[in-house]
Amino acid sequence: MIRVLLTSTSFQDTPGRHHDLLSETGFEVTRLRGPLSKEEMLQHVVKFDALLCGDDHIDREVIDRGREGRLKVISKYGVGLDKLDAHYARSIGIPTTNCPGVNHTTVAEHVFALMLGYNRNIHKHSAETFNNQWKRYTGHEIMGCSIGIMGFGSIGRAVADRARAFGCTIWAYDPYISQINEESAVHFCVSIDELLPACDIITLHMPLNETTRGMVGRQFLERMKAGSLLINTSRGEIIDNDEVVKALDSGHLRGYLCDVLEKEPMVPNHPLAHRKDVIITPHIGSRTHQSVVRQGCMAVENLIDSLKKLGYLVP
Ligand code: NAD
Repeated sequence: MIRVLLTSTSFQDTPGRHHDLLSETGFEVTRLRGPLSKEEMLQHVVKFDALLCGDDHIDREVIDRGREGRLKVISKYGVGLDKLDAHYARSIGIPTTNCPGVNHTTVAEHVFALMLGYNRNIHKHSAETFNNQWKRYTGHEIMGCSIGIMGFGSIGRAVADRARAFGCTIWAYDPYISQINEESAVHFCVSIDELLPACDIITLHMPLNETTRGMVGRQFLERMKAGSLLINTSRGEIIDNDEVVKALDSGHLRGYLCDVLEKEPMVPNHPLAHRKDVIITPHIGSRTHQSVVRQGCMAVENLIDSLKKLGYLVP
């Protein structure tokens, strides 16, 4: 019997076809509420043939512990591989997959939810109206804004498509893309220095890695246009929170809108909490009924495929 550890709460808490697909496999599934810490992973990993994981801490040590037990495959629900050492797992013969290309629409829509919501003060208006007030703030249009997209992969491009429809000017920076379609009407920048001062809104869509960790610090923020907005649906560790707070306090940054934090769930007394110029959503950028089903099915199919390739299931 194949034993699977399922930790993604998005997968578990959202109804849909992915549950049927998993139960039809006949695997023995243990459900835990992730993301699990390293200590929790070390405790559990030995008991399972397969991990159907979210953003759990799965480093070399965890993978080695799993291999001492019965670990054969890892299927990541989601895209970001910053908490999972996929390279190491593959190098020791543990097939490791993720789900690229299925959640970009949902995350791009969330970027616009944050951007439009903040610009029209939706969060403040709703809270105050429920509090028996009729206070009206003057908002901002996004038509005509310059939007700077850092990381022009699946999500970055989906943001560009939507920004075009809203009448924004689109700027992009991605050091790993040499050329883009000239008809896409994107100002493709060769350096961050070219992008940052030109944009009213900067939105981050690069992965977390050793180059991007802490990238948005004092120098980065100073180079942004005065009064601009920063949006982060990528990873919390890309941002230096203290520098973002300083930039907000000085008014250089008009707002910081994010879906991700360096530690999730948010720790008490977080420096960004309870600010009127900050919106924080609890990492739900890819969590819609449509996207969870797509990602859930893909994660289960990846897991089945990997087990078939290893000969543990009949093709
Ligand atoms: P992707 O791999 O399709 O695109 C990432 C792009 O970033 C690539 O084109 C890459 O060349 C570029 N890049 C790498 N380093 C860069 C750098 N230093 N500066 C600028 N660009 C750089 O990935 P994606 O599907 O677009 O997802 C991007 C990130 O979004 C993921 O790594 C993940 O961290 C995050 N994400 C968050 C959620 C959420 O729920 N909030 C959901 C999905 C993905």
